Amino acid sequence: MNLTEILKTEYGKSIPACTNAEIYSALLKTVNRLAQENRKPNEKKKLYYISAEFLIGRLLSNNLINLGLYDEVKRQLAEHGRDIGEIEECEPEPSLGNGGLGRLAACFLDSIAALGLNGDGVGLNYHFGLFRQVFENNAQTTQPDPWITEDSWLIRTDVTYPVKFGNMEVSARMYDILVTGCKNRTNRLHLFDIESVDESVVGSGISFDKSDIAKNLTLFLYPDDSDEDGRLLRIYQQYFMVSCAAQLILDEAVAKGCRLHDLADYAVVQINDTHPTMVIPELIRLLMERGLPMDDAIAAVQKTCAYTNHTILAEALEKWPLSYLKKAVPQLVPIIEVLDRRIRRKFDDKSVYLIDSDERVHMAHLDIHCCFSVNGVASLHTQILKETELRHFYEIYPEKFNNKTNGITFRRWLLHCNPALTSLITSLIGKGFMEDEAELKRLLQYRSNADVLQRLLAIKAAKKSDLKAYLQKRQGICINENSIFDIQIKRLHEYKRQQLNALYLIHKYLEIKSGKKPKAPITAIFGAKAAPAYTIAQDIIHLILCLQELTANDPEVSPHLNVVMVENYNVTWAEKLIPACDISEQISLASKEASGTGNMKFMLNGALTLGTEDGANVEIHELVGDENIYIFGDSSDAVVQRYAQGSYNAAEYYKKNPKIRRAVDFITSETMLKIGDKERLERLSRELTTKDWFMTFPDFEDYIKAREQAYADYENRMEWAEKMLVNIASAGYFSSDRTIAEYQRDIWQLETANTEEDM
Ligand SMILES: *Cc1c(COP(=O)(O)O)cnc(C)c1O
Repeated sequence: MNLTEILKTEYGKSIPACTNAEIYSALLKTVNRLAQENRKPNEKKKLYYISAEFLIGRLLSNNLINLGLYDEVKRQLAEHGRDIGEIEECEPEPSLGNGGLGRLAACFLDSIAALGLNGDGVGLNYHFGLFRQVFENNAQTTQPDPWITEDSWLIRTDVTYPVKFGNMEVSARMYDILVTGCKNRTNRLHLFDIESVDESVVGSGISFDKSDIAKNLTLFLYPDDSDEDGRLLRIYQQYFMVSCAAQLILDEAVAKGCRLHDLADYAVVQINDTHPTMVIPELIRLLMERGLPMDDAIAAVQKTCAYTNHTILAEALEKWPLSYLKKAVPQLVPIIEVLDRRIRRKFDDKSVYLIDSDERVHMAHLDIHCCFSVNGVASLHTQILKETELRHFYEIYPEKFNNKTNGITFRRWLLHCNPALTSLITSLIGKGFMEDEAELKRLLQYRSNADVLQRLLAIKAAKKSDLKAYLQKRQGICINENSIFDIQIKRLHEYKRQQLNALYLIHKYLEIKSGKKPKAPITAIFGAKAAPAYTIAQDIIHLILCLQELTANDPEVSPHLNVVMVENYNVTWAEKLIPACDISEQISLASKEASGTGNMKFMLNGALTLGTEDGANVEIHELVGDENIYIFGDSSDAVVQRYAQGSYNAAEYYKKNPKIRRAVDFITSETMLKIGDKERLERLSRELTTKDWFMTFPDFEDYIKAREQAYADYENRMEWAEKMLVNIASAGYFSSDRTIAEYQRDIWQLETANTEEDM
């Protein structure tokens, strides 16, 4: 590809004469044209990956990498004094996801295309995304996060569908984003939108009239559901998404000659968490509308749909009041009622009914009864589902349950975000690991090679300098590139326990004030958005921002300890933070994090994990061994037991443990009240001392010990570098190519050119 030619044709200008935005725009068009050429014949059977979220991140560089053009474009730009990094900065990040679940869907689309599988994503075209986080007065405020600019990756299609609700009908249109598979086929992400969408209904911040569905339906992801209008809006969104998906699935299948009984030969639907669950009754309804008897329709759908469970947090398992469904989607209610009656006839166990005694529909129950596969997302998570949370279902359907440990695409999370590390690896073991991730293990032969270890440290140091520069530019914050970068970036939730990290930082601050200085300075970095209606999460952000101000302005502390919170944490931030990290904080309460994928990205980039035996941390621990990870805290068994007994008493720990008391008391100390908001700090302190539902106190001492051990080990640079190397070498298992190959083998069974040799 010749960029000079392209720009001459497009603008009649040379590379140096073009603005960054012009180059970006020309590259986007070129990439889309080339990607279109990689469209493959539409094989008989197709996967539809339906998800409320696709946290795809910026696309330009990853598409160039997947098309094999990145190095070439970078070189041509550099020859004319232009930096591809600056071109990348023109691209707004599509804010179509919330956290790990949405990022997983994006990694999966990349791997599905890379493995040459016929699979498209289906979701919604949220105009303002989740929200943009802005800090004001040490607190989170929320703004719309528009990303659909003139030069958008969205391609408008001619596909439109009517979608009926209880009291009205809207018209849907499909937009596509091309998914370029590395050296392989191009698939698509279908994003549905309402034709009547009206961005102007949004008032100040992210507030809008939640009842005006015909205008607001696709404005925001996860609109506030603390009132009835908000909850109804979520049902309208979900039904809109799956009704479009179901119409698309049937149209495409029929166009390929499908007889409706044989739908499962033409389509497999992966239901990503419970948000797309209504696709089950909607497909049944549409099949009946097209003439199938109900029993046949149910049987066809059951062979077509598979469900991925992402959480065991009770509050996250969706249960919709039947009365809401009657209002929003009355056409589905009789179908759900029939399914429920059949289940009641078959099973004498209230805990597996679809509709409970409060007239609420349990969406996960609908999935488990009506899908042929139910999978968890990490080995511990699947085990907990089988033994505890979904025990009764496992007894009924043992054959449905399977594990698919999550993964991440190495194209984005290594090749794109860490080219220097990629070329070091390539220079040592060749490029084979890009096709076969297990080859990363060959790095282990260099574990005592001083030269390799030095180069690893040099790459990490360079990435830390890059992050320092980026933070300076974005937020005007200056950090010490020679400090330990200790990073916790993920959605803000009490179960993820940012508050435990904050309590440690208070402990450390007080130690430093009393004269105990750490050997190496520490920079503790956070990134996290909190759901706007989640008060305690807002309070925790407030605490962290107050600690940022406190440490920055105290000359006794600042040379040794700094707390920094990045604003509006997203994929772009993650790509800068992860390669620069020394210590990866994965400190969820054991049993609560289904898998985590941040943990995998950090490991692949040579950070050491400080974590609990939770989610995929368990598998990381097994792969790297005790020497190369910092594990602390109660086991998931102990936690599950403590919940079951109801025996946890936070006040007792607070009373008996002076370290805990000292740290918690500091939250409402004079010093903090001078900086922060009294109401927020007092509410948070009260929450901890009286509830501490996610049990930070029992793990506190052990956490301090493990963190101090990691800091002490960091001092021996060569030993640390060896641990880094072992982590990178052991990360192959967490490639989403491996995960997708397992979905394909066990669940989807799409035809491929070489199905036999594949596994
Ligand atoms: C990977 C990723 C996540 C998930 O992080 P966890 O630590 O697994 O919760 C969330 N947000 C973004 C932007 C990510 O890239």
